[in-house]
Amino acid sequence: MLKLAVIGSPIEHSLSPLVHSAILNSIDVPYSYDKIKVDKGGLSEFIDYAVENDIDGFNLTMPHKEDIIPFLAEIDKEAEAFSSVNTVCIREGKLYGHNTDAMGYRKSLEKCGHSFKNSNIVLLGAGGVVKTLAMAAAIDGARSITILNRTQSKAEEICNKLRTYDSTVNYGGFSKSEIEWYCEKADILINATPLGMSGVDADFGDLSFIEVLPKSALVSDLIYNPEMTRFLKTAEKNGNKTLNGLGMLIYQAIFADEYYLDMKLKVDEIYPIVKRAYEMK
Ligand code: NAP
Repeated sequence: MLKLAVIGSPIEHSLSPLVHSAILNSIDVPYSYDKIKVDKGGLSEFIDYAVENDIDGFNLTMPHKEDIIPFLAEIDKEAEAFSSVNTVCIREGKLYGHNTDAMGYRKSLEKCGHSFKNSNIVLLGAGGVVKTLAMAAAIDGARSITILNRTQSKAEEICNKLRTYDSTVNYGGFSKSEIEWYCEKADILINATPLGMSGVDADFGDLSFIEVLPKSALVSDLIYNPEMTRFLKTAEKNGNKTLNGLGMLIYQAIFADEYYLDMKLKVDEIYPIVKRAYEMK
């Protein structure tokens, strides 16, 4: 039996057990998948527990994605470039780290006919997920990568790490005029802030920057609850194609399970089964 877990803090609302259960049930793999609260500083103790109890692997969420790195025997190239690990396999007591977040996002982009390559990417926010997606965009050969964030210094810090790649890199604050300036030429606009998320009071105020986007631009929100945020509804009204965060959530989990199982899965067949399980939750 495959013994898995997700660790983090907070962890109560994690959808990982639901998503991984749907995947593993769909391919008839016997498994257990626990949700374990591990606070910052608690990784060493958890790893001892995981090895002693023959856990095969675990997913990581806040605040462990970077802190896990010193504990790994090996880290794959992308996870190292992102300084972020969301999937760990344990084999003979050794830990192997991967990052499937960018793989998941790329796959959901691909499904709606877009990719980072040669595109002008505008990211709103400069948190953990932007660190990963901006680096993925640079690795994939984006034409330009712009990071706009309330705390501009965080956007600048991420941009500085992208300078060894060929993409043009810009950063700025979160004012309407700055967002508008970069939206005019955007091919993909991504909201990576919690603005508009269910349970979060804050939302975008003025969304008129969406009106300056080219009609061919894809507007993507990493939020999946609600399915359509005000940000996405406004983009849809403006005639833009939209993408919410559910694809990223599901695909990153399928790719993580490929690592745990050490085999390729029929990703396109599994996706709708997992989506249905999510919608029925
Ligand atoms: P994070 O590290 O906490 O970063 C949050 C970012 O949002 C920061 O840049 C923050 O700006 C900005 N922000 C927060 N409140 C804001 C406000 N009121 N006005 C303007 N900016 C604000 O979070 P994260 O891990 O990067 O995640 C970002 C979003 O992506 C979340 O909504 C999360 O649910 C979603 N996400 C989805 C998936 C998926 O699978 N679909 C995966 C990962 C994350 P400051 O720097 O100024 O604080």
